[in-house]
Amino acid sequence: MSQRISGVKGMIDLLPPDIAVWQALEAAARETFRRFGYEEARTPVAEDTALFVRSVGEATDIVGKEMYTFQDKAGRSLSLRPEGTAPLVRAYVEHAVAQREPVTRWWYLGPMFRYERMKTGRYRQFWQAGAEAYGVSAPAQETELIDLAMQLFRALGLDGIRVELNSLGDPETRGVYLESLRSFLRAHRSELCAECQERTEKNPLRVFDCKNPGCQAVVAGAPAITEALSDEARAHFEVVQRQLSLLGIPFRVNPRMVRGIDYYTRTAFEFLSDDPVLGTASAVGGGGRYDRLVKELGGPDTPAVGWALGMDRLFLLLQAKGVVQPARPVLFVAVAEEGAADAALALVSRLRRAGHRVEFDARGGSLKSQMKRADKSGAAYALVLGSRELTSGEAQLKPLAGGEPVPLRLDALESALAARR
Ligand code: AMP
Repeated sequence: MSQRISGVKGMIDLLPPDIAVWQALEAAARETFRRFGYEEARTPVAEDTALFVRSVGEATDIVGKEMYTFQDKAGRSLSLRPEGTAPLVRAYVEHAVAQREPVTRWWYLGPMFRYERMKTGRYRQFWQAGAEAYGVSAPAQETELIDLAMQLFRALGLDGIRVELNSLGDPETRGVYLESLRSFLRAHRSELCAECQERTEKNPLRVFDCKNPGCQAVVAGAPAITEALSDEARAHFEVVQRQLSLLGIPFRVNPRMVRGIDYYTRTAFEFLSDDPVLGTASAVGGGGRYDRLVKELGGPDTPAVGWALGMDRLFLLLQAKGVVQPARPVLFVAVAEEGAADAALALVSRLRRAGHRVEFDARGGSLKSQMKRADKSGAAYALVLGSRELTSGEAQLKPLAGGEPVPLRLDALESALAARR
């Protein structure tokens, strides 16, 4: 008995023709990373669960509710990575990279996993491209990374993406702010959802992330973290803003943007789009400085900044623009009669070896059906091979978009196609 098994809820297939948009997105990301001197780092999709608990934070939604955690056969607790920063820091520490180079700049691209509620632009397996820079405490590092993201958006032709900035200050001074936020939230306890009542005590910053309209209304009146910065953190934040202006990158300071992850210090930022194709999933990326994380995960005291972009959301934006066309073959070879099939097979193989994208219909069939297939393939030219062509060594290169066929010698096809590519 046959049984149809569906894909996992929230985990989507990326198939042709959409894959062309994904490939364009990835190529633009790689090219932009190259220009900025970032190098690729690849880590496994699963890590020791403790890595995310320690770094992302136990009281965050990501760790508390959304992780795919399981035991392997030896009883270890592993989790599918919900984000890319902690795994890269783990690798950076494990391979003692700081001892080899004072500044390290890495990028990554891969699937992340969070058990979230599905909606447009929000999945349980989703793709992130990220960049991380270790070893620089100067504000120019944030500026460089924001510039990198903006240059990538520009390379993709996505010009409606804006930057929001905030400073979360330093852990030493954050305590004072957290206490004032906590007393404010306690005073509005009855207006908060049950979860935020709990967050008020455990991790009050997380109340800013709550989607509940009642909680949103409360935090709209909450004290702003930007009012409670140390002189140093404030000066740092001002330099980031000045440098962004210097580069002509518009931004808005949003004191309520605290990001859903615990490890951030000082500058945090998000990239947002109001394009309706994203529904309510308007954040296309986010990141910030995390100067304590490398040390917390057992490495030397190393400042760091990073961001991650949601590739699924960039895909939706790019797809809606309709500018990416799937690559098409240059030539379709059809056979006029059965006896020419082997010669056609050999010709196609020869042209492919020479680097041309060439198609044929391995099923054979009538010339009419082959020509239909040629049209559907989007090939620029078709060539019909029969005993006449094989005997004379000459054939007609027929432009499928219309126009006069061009006679040429079969042994000169490679160069003829190269000239037309
Ligand atoms: P985060 O660090 O959680 O802010 O994630 C960075 C970016 O990844 C977000 O701005 C989104 O664009 C994207 N992202 C996060 N979670 C999801 C998800 N479940 N599905 C699709 N994209 C996501």
